[in-house]
Amino acid sequence: MKKRDYYEVLGVPRNASTDEIKKAYRDKAKRHHPDMNPQNKKEAEEKFKEVSEAYEVLMDPQKKQLYDQYGHDGVSQTFKGGGFTWDDFHHFDDLQDILGNLFGGSLFENFFGFTGRTQRQRAKRGGDIHVILSISLEDITGQIKKQFKINRNEACQQCNGQGGTDFSSCPQCGGQGQVRTQTQSFFGTFTSVSTCPRCRGSGQIIKTPCSKCGGEGRIKVPRTIEIKVPRGVGHKQYIVLRGEGHYGRGGKGNIIVEFEEKPHEYFERRGYDLYLRVFVPYSKLINGGSVDIPSLNNKKGKMKIPKGSSAPEIIRVRGKGMPQPGGGQGDLYVELNLQPLETTDKDLDKILDALKKYEGKPTPKKRK
Ligand SMILES: [Zn+2]
Ligand SMILES: [Zn+2]
Repeated sequence: MKKRDYYEVLGVPRNASTDEIKKAYRDKAKRHHPDMNPQNKKEAEEKFKEVSEAYEVLMDPQKKQLYDQYGHDGVSQTFKGGGFTWDDFHHFDDLQDILGNLFGGSLFENFFGFTGRTQRQRAKRGGDIHVILSISLEDITGQIKKQFKINRNEACQQCNGQGGTDFSSCPQCGGQGQVRTQTQSFFGTFTSVSTCPRCRGSGQIIKTPCSKCGGEGRIKVPRTIEIKVPRGVGHKQYIVLRGEGHYGRGGKGNIIVEFEEKPHEYFERRGYDLYLRVFVPYSKLINGGSVDIPSLNNKKGKMKIPKGSSAPEIIRVRGKGMPQPGGGQGDLYVELNLQPLETTDKDLDKILDALKKYEGKPTPKKRK
């Protein structure tokens, strides 16, 4: 059988972009996959291999150049056996993207005679889990515990997180995890080293994938995590729970908990200080006394109003602000405001008239 032109096999023009080549391969790989053609599996296998070979060559700049210049004879020398085999194929990732969902990952086991589900996560650390935790000012006292739920990849118990029990050295890289590709070209011989596409760098392939996790080595588990909210922690600050993230064969990732502070009903936070406005009746501003104020610890707060206070006036209450990480507290600043009178009583005019003789004239306040 005469070898067909690669561009013709994929149905793309000679000046096709990589995106066009990818798209063409995507379509053809799906159409010719043997599992999609159970009636004539053998023929489909040939076609599938043919489009994959064309894809391998046209996606590799050096191989493509050789092919464009010298045709099949030019490029076939770059294949290990002098002709294309699956060992020369570098795009199992793409193939898994294209077909993975279609066949539930069975593609490699069924077709290539080896488990494409190699230990691709082996050297890879598990991912981090980001959590945004909503907290109130009350939660920041350093005594409060909070829980949140996550779905975490954990090591499969059955295979100890290895994806299987029966391993063999990767035939493509000889267990090295890396492959050297020598390419002859017009300009000389190029050697490039890349991660082995078959074992994805682990140097091993699983012969019998674990039946519980399907060879992934990990299983999603819902978990509830409890943390102590750090004392004095602020909006957008975060803590890292090392090794509590997703499992990966190269180690576990972290959980990153970011705090999102809920606005408080009464207090405004600035750093470790708190700001509060209270409305104080006229008589209390004049005579002094104490008023109830909200607090962060559920205890009733009280505050002294000095005799002869005015409004607005800011009173600093030391040590009644936010807890600080190393101990100590910020301050509380209370702004006194005049409580409006709640009456429509006719007698009010008389009372105010009577007060007038004690009032001074409106005066501008001197700054110093
Ligand atoms: Zn390998
Ligand atoms: Zn398993």
